[in-house]
Amino acid sequence: SCGICVEKCPFDAIEIINLPTELEDDPVHRYGENAFALYGLPIPEPGTVTGILGPNGIGKTTAVRALADELVPNLGDYGTDPGWERVLDRYRGTELQTYIERVQAGEITIARKPQYVDQLPAQFGGTTIDLLESTDERGALDDYIDRLGIRPVVDQPLDTLSGGELQRVALAATLARDRDFYFLDEVSPYLDIGQRVTAARLIRELADEEDRAVLVVEHDLAILDLLADSLHVAYGEPGAFGVITDPKSVRNGINEYLTGYLSNENMRIRPDEIEFHEHAPRETSKSTPLVDYPALSKSYGDGEFSLEVESGTIYESEVLGVVGPNGIGKSTLAKLFTGALEPDEGDLDFRLDISYKPQYIEIDQPMRVDAFLSSITSDVGTSYWNTEIAKPLQLERIMERNLDDLSGGERQRVAIAAALSEDADLYVMDEPSAHLDVEQRVQATTAIRRYAENHDETVLVIDHDIYMIDLLADRLMVFDGKPSEYGHAGVPQEMRAGMNDFLRDLDITFRRDERTKRPRINKPDSQLDRKQKKQGEYYYAP
Ligand code: ADP
Ligand code: ADP
Repeated sequence: SCGICVEKCPFDAIEIINLPTELEDDPVHRYGENAFALYGLPIPEPGTVTGILGPNGIGKTTAVRALADELVPNLGDYGTDPGWERVLDRYRGTELQTYIERVQAGEITIARKPQYVDQLPAQFGGTTIDLLESTDERGALDDYIDRLGIRPVVDQPLDTLSGGELQRVALAATLARDRDFYFLDEVSPYLDIGQRVTAARLIRELADEEDRAVLVVEHDLAILDLLADSLHVAYGEPGAFGVITDPKSVRNGINEYLTGYLSNENMRIRPDEIEFHEHAPRETSKSTPLVDYPALSKSYGDGEFSLEVESGTIYESEVLGVVGPNGIGKSTLAKLFTGALEPDEGDLDFRLDISYKPQYIEIDQPMRVDAFLSSITSDVGTSYWNTEIAKPLQLERIMERNLDDLSGGERQRVAIAAALSEDADLYVMDEPSAHLDVEQRVQATTAIRRYAENHDETVLVIDHDIYMIDLLADRLMVFDGKPSEYGHAGVPQEMRAGMNDFLRDLDITFRRDERTKRPRINKPDSQLDRKQKKQGEYYYAP
């Protein structure tokens, strides 16, 4: 056995039915006594996009450092300098052997897109084009600049770019290189759905047309599904140990992940299955309106951006999803509703108490998480609060930490908890999926949904993760327009009509996975894609 898990996982992270073979062997790498241990390695293959699906802190970066020859795996002997020979011995006869031989011979070159694109401006001074031109090794840069829509910002200094612009610049800079192996640590952060789909298609082309090996970590499952050919599920206990499974087909891998059971490994990684609905939720006879709001308009400066909002109704106890591209006015609307901004036209005489989780969280005080949350509600520490808020948002282990040294994902969870802990008539969540890994998204979704249902609360959720919107929303408000110029917010609609409006604009259709009913993006111009467009059914089964 691995010495960590004998029969029952002491971390309660996984239910061990049979010890997976990976855990019977020595780890691939262990950082030290009682330190993190990694089991299993992903296999980069030319012409293939390989995905890794799993929480952060599970060893994905460690694995990539081994594949990039930055770390020689010690096979668990952490005091020694093992050398590649022993690693090669271990993998003789497997697909990794060829790869390792090439690594040893210094034949593998790698390009890497880091996870935290916000740090780019600190690493490269200068303008965007300076950075981009230094990476143009295949003559493909111009095409990437155009298709990723970053032409308007190329002459700007990097430190003036938004998160979404930095993400696209980082992607262009990585893909433009001429390397054997590309590692992309998350593609979707800060991008809207259209941008995510474009990024996925560019990455696919690199594998399909240039025969490169690509390895991606991605937490937006609709995008991972579109991107990858095969995937490794990563599971274990973040910070303690991680297991990277043998590759599975992308369809099967995501399905197994959602059902919570890995069949080859005979391993349950989550007690509950995550379920999707093939058919749109039935139109419900709506309860009492929480608020009828009038048509609104708001513009910034001398009309550089203007937003028009159609009048509409938000009902009590509903979760209203809000979707649309970046820069179209979604946060502006949230700020109008909260009263942080005054509309130019339309009278918002709400008298509603609104609890608002902003997109970017500005809690930078040297204050402990428990003290901060206790300043919002006296429920902190009660069994009700622990079960409904702290546990699903995994706050227990960070309650004693200071707000100013939390990671992005930890901050996001504290902010969601803070927003849900307030007593309010309407809860507005601006991008709750940001910075969360796939498992945390599942848990945050459950926490928000359960909170709304158990307390008959009304929630407005703005997000780009279509799985999160699908699982959370009862109805949908769709924004369209021209980003950064004008936006139009439509009337809240039933899910089917809303999804159709939204996806028609994006020219994307979804089919349903037979087994889990989860939505999968259709290949453009495939038979299904054409049929559904003709029927006008972009998302739900007719
Ligand atoms: P992921 O990429 O999945 O988020 P990492 O591979 O970065 O995970 O890290 C896995 C675990 O290994 C983390 O708990 C991290 O703290 C630990 N770790 C990473 N590098 C080292 C190191 N040099 N020494 C000790 N522990 C490390
Ligand atoms: P979204 O939330 O859909 O990404 P926002 O509501 O944040 O969009 O922004 C819509 C547009 O308004 C963007 O072009 C943004 O740059 C601009 N904008 C947002 N806030 C301000 C402001 N305070 N002053 C001027 N322009 C702004």
